[in-house]
Amino acid sequence: MSDSVLYDLPGEFVSSMAEASGYCDAQAVLPTEDHYIAFCTCGRWHTTVSTRDEGLTLARAHTAETEAQ
Ligand SMILES: [Zn+2]
Repeated sequence: MSDSVLYDLPGEFVSSMAEASGYCDAQAVLPTEDHYIAFCTCGRWHTTVSTRDEGLTLARAHTAETEAQ
């Protein structure tokens, strides 16, 4: 499997994708007032980070872990 594609998507849209998907089809990093929220469409992973790059790095680590199982 190649790396999953990272998208910038509105949270509500990704949330609806997560309900329909259940798989690690896409990850997103969304800015909030003072930090970023990173999450995956599988619905099993989300975290808060201080920078967008950190979120992208953790998202790639999440998909790597999932694909290794
Ligand atoms: Zn996932």
